[in-house]
Amino acid sequence: MSTPRVLISGASIAGPSLAFWLTRYGWETTVVERAPAFRDGGQNVDIRGAAREVLRRAGLEDAAREATTGELGTRFVGDHGETIAEFPVTDSDTDGATAEVEILRGDLARIFVDRTEGSSTTYRYGDRITALDDDGTRVRVSFEDGEDEDFDLVIAADGIRSSTRDLAFGRESVVRSLGLEMTYLTIPRDDTDIPWWQWYSGVGGRSITLRPDRHGTTRAVLTEVTKDRGDGVIPPRRSAQAQRAHLRERFADLPWQATRILDAMDGVDDIYYESIGQVRSPRWASGRVALLGDAAWCASPVSGMGTSLSIVGAYVLAGELASHVHHRDAFLGYERIMRPYVEQAQSLPPGTPQLANPTSRAGVGAFRTVLRIAASKPAKRLGAQLFSPPADKIDLPEYEHLLATR
Ligand SMILES: Cc1cc2nc3c(=O)[nH]c(=O)nc-3n(C[C@H](O)[C@H](O)[C@H](O)COP(=O)(O)OP(=O)(O)OC[C@H]3O[C@@H](n4cnc5c(N)ncnc54)[C@H](O)[C@@H]3O)c2cc1C
Repeated sequence: MSTPRVLISGASIAGPSLAFWLTRYGWETTVVERAPAFRDGGQNVDIRGAAREVLRRAGLEDAAREATTGELGTRFVGDHGETIAEFPVTDSDTDGATAEVEILRGDLARIFVDRTEGSSTTYRYGDRITALDDDGTRVRVSFEDGEDEDFDLVIAADGIRSSTRDLAFGRESVVRSLGLEMTYLTIPRDDTDIPWWQWYSGVGGRSITLRPDRHGTTRAVLTEVTKDRGDGVIPPRRSAQAQRAHLRERFADLPWQATRILDAMDGVDDIYYESIGQVRSPRWASGRVALLGDAAWCASPVSGMGTSLSIVGAYVLAGELASHVHHRDAFLGYERIMRPYVEQAQSLPPGTPQLANPTSRAGVGAFRTVLRIAASKPAKRLGAQLFSPPADKIDLPEYEHLLATR
């Protein structure tokens, strides 16, 4: 039998993780990424529960630990930076806002890309899929920049707004907006920065967070509540320039570090901005095309599970593909194992994300009181659970025997 050839769209977390496992099982993969080069941006993502176990099995846990940001915990601050409540990092896989393995998204993606590039995986930057023709025996793929090519399978791992998903499934998936926008940017470090995740909540449903990284810079996020809530109302993306103007208008009157971040913004190239939402897809496979990661099931950054789901999903999808003769059985196995895990992660606590992003002055005051109580000694455990996603709720299949045969 000839070596199966798989095309993966998207070189962030899900795509390169899938390439990693498929390569280990002896498959050939091409990863097409629309950005002109590897994307370094973003900030801390958590690796929890089953995802840590997957990294262990991949032999990558040490590499991930070495790349952690060293964050000591989460500290909520007031208008002048004074501490309102703090939640130190825990060594639990599941509890707390700051997980034990906190790593920058770009550093984690780099770990997977470095271990696949140059092996039987090819990365094709600055390109994208424009058409798919699945004739039941292979998929003919047209690219924006290049000749058509045939692949055995195509996997869309190109994020919440996946255009590959639309090509293969039409408008089947629903993107549910949670009424929140987040802008991520990397700014110069200054001596007010500390090794804690500092979180300021202000009126108007706006918040600012600052986090340490291990590259001598600081990762900032500006979050705002919007009116766009519900199914299918995810707004179109603004250009980077329009986003800068928008942020100036919305955040200029906030205290604490708002001015510093807005002043630093002009020198920042990679502003990553996203409307926060969840993807509900009735199925994750159609013929020889399947969905993975945020493209399939985006649970959103507020779930704290986006990256863990992608790492686990890639492991399961690759394991099922390598275990079955027919891709249809593999896709069925993948969905049977992953769907309950995904649904748990998607089910957010009532009031999320609005409760943590109050709009009125009274709401901000009430939120701070809740934080103070949650951080107090008697309620500390409860406080940690406030931020705790369901990290361990999956029976991770063993695919070790597949490695032994290579
Ligand atoms: C630059 C960046 C920064 C991020 N920062 C954070 C963060 O700080 N915190 C957080 O919680 N989450 C962040 N995320 C999202 C987070 O990575 C995901 O929620 C999660 O890890 C699941 O990853 P994914 O690989 O499924 O999707 P994503 O991480 O969204 O990756 C999708 C990839 O597909 C590429 N792509 C999109 N469309 C196409 C196309 N048509 N053809 C080819 N490629 C395409 C994108 O450029 C991207 O590289 C960030 C994502 C990116 C891309």
